[in-house]
Amino acid sequence: MPISANNPDRISWLHVSKNSDFPIQNIPYGVFLTRDDIITIGTRIGDTAIDLGALHQLGYFDGIPLTDDIFLQDSLNDFIADGRKTWRLVRNRIADIFDSSNTTLQNNKKHKEIVLFRLDEIEMQLPVQIGDYTDFYASKEHATNVGTMFRGKDNALMPNWLHLPVGYHGRSSSIIPSKIPIHRPQGQTLPADSKKPVFGPSQMVDFELEMAFITTDANDLGESIPIEEAEDYIFGLVLFNDWSARDIQKWEYVPLGPFLGKNFASSISPWIVTLDALEPFRVDGPKQKPQPLPYLQYSGKKSFDINLEAAIQPKGAKEKVVTRSNFKHMYWNMAQQLAHHTVNGCPVNSGDLMGSGTISGPTPDSYGSMLELTWRGEKPLIMMDQTERKFIQDYDTVILRGYCESDGNHIGFGEVKTQLLPVFSPKKKK
Ligand code: CA
Repeated sequence: MPISANNPDRISWLHVSKNSDFPIQNIPYGVFLTRDDIITIGTRIGDTAIDLGALHQLGYFDGIPLTDDIFLQDSLNDFIADGRKTWRLVRNRIADIFDSSNTTLQNNKKHKEIVLFRLDEIEMQLPVQIGDYTDFYASKEHATNVGTMFRGKDNALMPNWLHLPVGYHGRSSSIIPSKIPIHRPQGQTLPADSKKPVFGPSQMVDFELEMAFITTDANDLGESIPIEEAEDYIFGLVLFNDWSARDIQKWEYVPLGPFLGKNFASSISPWIVTLDALEPFRVDGPKQKPQPLPYLQYSGKKSFDINLEAAIQPKGAKEKVVTRSNFKHMYWNMAQQLAHHTVNGCPVNSGDLMGSGTISGPTPDSYGSMLELTWRGEKPLIMMDQTERKFIQDYDTVILRGYCESDGNHIGFGEVKTQLLPVFSPKKKK
């Protein structure tokens, strides 16, 4: 089925400002609370949010096999479980409804009042109920940088790294949407030159510039997904800030990997940009040497050209962009990640979230974490208010952004924005 929604010449009758992340060629999916406190599934064109539940009730999706309440839900899980054919039919239909040549809704003032919202009238929610969350470690530059710092240059990449997409299972309970503040975590750390750990607030709170993909029901227990089919099970992508406490991580990570240094919070951008919308931005991935085992070999372009940036905004100051990277730098692509994840028969469900791992580029100004950008604090960054940052300070806000651009087409992810608050202090009992 053609993806008519991607037609680059299409113009919407809704206002879209130049270089908006959300032209009619994007049509992402999200979940929001309306001005009447009703939760619904929606999309966005320009700065207008569109209530898909209301559109469906008004008959605009007639002819597409959808249950009556498919959009009147607090998560996209059931819609995602309907599969790629349905996602594509709905996205194509939305493009058609909002095409400048289509006057049906455009000329229906009453329907427009029910269906359309200004962004300040809605509140974005987590778009999916995330069952399981897996985080990969798929950027060679990032793995090399961190390995060099933790184990020295000669042991930077572990012997398995070039043979499989390394990953671990994280916690979905602490994945939050943009704009929800988090607290500085406390935990055990081992001070330099000490043999005994201490307990207290992490002194090395960091962001990780990542993307994450969201899956549909893919396989049953025992089945694996062949690499050439893997993308059929990817619904879309979000920006992903995988907050990390480096000092806690360093002390706890041997031998089983990340634990409390990672699972206190991860923030995602609220609009899921579909894999379909990203089709025009496919590119070749990095050359893989040695050649991976056959189940990880792929054909065609399986990487995506997505510009990424991270900014830090101290309280009361202007933000400073501290890094610019790109999703295409990722050594192991999403199809390889999903094929590897299921090769042992591990089931993947609708609404599972797979983080890419920190995406660092090849140059020091494209590294995807403060750990790398400041080289473990040795080279602090200067903020717009002239203060120094080795890691993230209390009341700093970290903002990730991402967008694609080619041949004059621009679509993006908006942003994910999270403020770090001081250590949580329980309210005193009266
Ligand atoms: Ca991570």
